[in-house]
Amino acid sequence: MSNLIPALAKIVGDAHVITSDFAPYANDWRKKYFGKPLVVVKPSSTDEVAAIVKLCAAAGIAIVPQAGNTSLVGGSVPDESGSQLVLNVSRMNKVLEVDVINNTMTVEAGCILQTLQEKAAEHDRLFPLSLAAEGSCEIGGNISTNAGGVQVLRYGNTRELVMGLEVVLPSGEVWSGLKGLRKDNTGYDLKQLFIGAEGTLGIITKAVLKLFPAPKSTSTVFVALASPRTALELLSHMRSHLGERLTAFELMSARCVDIVQAAFPAHRSPLAGRHAWVVLLEATDAQPGEALNLAMETALEAALEADLIEDAAIAKNQAEAGKLWDIREHLPEAQARNIKHDISVPISRIAEFIDAADAALEQNWPGVRPVTFGHLGDGNLHYNIAEPPSFTVEAWLAEWKQVSTVVHDCVNAFGGSISAEHGLGKLKNIEVRKYKSPVELALMQSIKNTLDPKNIMNPGKVV
Ligand SMILES: Cc1cc2nc3c(=O)[nH]c(=O)nc-3n(C[C@H](O)[C@H](O)[C@H](O)COP(=O)(O)OP(=O)(O)OC[C@H]3O[C@@H](n4cnc5c(N)ncnc54)[C@H](O)[C@@H]3O)c2cc1C
Repeated sequence: MSNLIPALAKIVGDAHVITSDFAPYANDWRKKYFGKPLVVVKPSSTDEVAAIVKLCAAAGIAIVPQAGNTSLVGGSVPDESGSQLVLNVSRMNKVLEVDVINNTMTVEAGCILQTLQEKAAEHDRLFPLSLAAEGSCEIGGNISTNAGGVQVLRYGNTRELVMGLEVVLPSGEVWSGLKGLRKDNTGYDLKQLFIGAEGTLGIITKAVLKLFPAPKSTSTVFVALASPRTALELLSHMRSHLGERLTAFELMSARCVDIVQAAFPAHRSPLAGRHAWVVLLEATDAQPGEALNLAMETALEAALEADLIEDAAIAKNQAEAGKLWDIREHLPEAQARNIKHDISVPISRIAEFIDAADAALEQNWPGVRPVTFGHLGDGNLHYNIAEPPSFTVEAWLAEWKQVSTVVHDCVNAFGGSISAEHGLGKLKNIEVRKYKSPVELALMQSIKNTLDPKNIMNPGKVV
């Protein structure tokens, strides 16, 4: 062990081995988990990652892969033992190739998501993954969590956007599956194992990502409506009118808008009065011009006539659209201290779920205040719960486990998932066992045992 630090320094250089002042690497974004790394190491290439992993495999040292460290479930944070090495990929941040004919981009794992969006735009292409943490999360983390975000409705989760991967396996061997193929039926699709694995099966070092035509027109609207049921009807209505151009459909309760306006007074609803629910919806088109806006206006007029919406504000330009998105994107930060859930149910059952979960919580904790928002078009809610008046915030956070049990049992009863976007990490790795069948759990464990027999890759997460 005493040879470890010099051996790491020989691989990556002294400057990239951190042995004290761990703060940015040891805690999670929400400051819920505080780990104690043995050491933090920041390689700059696949060869360096492979050499570090070989060293750790030989010494039996656990590795916690880390990218932008924006995990909301503690996935990228080491435990408190002081025995786990944090392998941070942020220095591996090169875009290696943009192929506009193949519509692909080959990148290193430490590229910041926003940089990739900008790089695609420079080539008149779109990389559609988009989430509020995009200025700091990195593609290796996005792939390892199968991140979702606000454009899944049209383009799918990260899983749908990854065409090839390079991975350093727990043995230190490198698997190169960096293919930009749209068709490849030569056996198991191995990359799928690593997507969403939260760093438990290997370290992603490079990826081939799918690109799309850059949108040339965008129509962004903030609408008020009566209930999640009406929001579902509006979703179906908008899909009929706009087809695949419908890109985002974000639901927020009145309480969410109140919370953002209180925390960030500059970000105000464009609508007069307070409305029970609002939806931020967006459509994009590869055609420039006014055709999309006209189609949006026609769809909204029909929605108004059908009593689906109460009011609407259409952004007149990019700046106004940005202001509407500001409300949605400041929501995670504005309500940081409550009990979080990241759940999904079949889209058609979302309204029923909200009624059932609200009622179950009210029965147990009278006066409880759900802060309900999410990607309605994906059946995914951030169903967060703020304290009833009789609780302090601290006392309420102490109820996390009991509250989550009520919510997750309800999710399960509706055929849903207790983690739609963020993964399991430390937050849900035990609880998930209650909701998966023994066969499914055994299958997951046997994959882990096969790839990582020494259990050195992010132990204690997922399985
Ligand atoms: C304000 C805010 C908003 C968010 N909104 C969304 C949202 O809309 N949708 C969504 O899906 N998520 C969202 N998130 C959660 C988070 O941003 C995502 O989970 C993101 O994909 C994590 O990326 P990261 O680079 O920060 O990864 P990290 O936090 O560093 O790591 C995440 C997991 O991946 C593993 N990992 C990291 N890099 C690698 C690698 N190279 N190889 C193998 N494993 C690796 C880690 O061990 C960990 O388990 C949000 C977070 C914040 C703070």
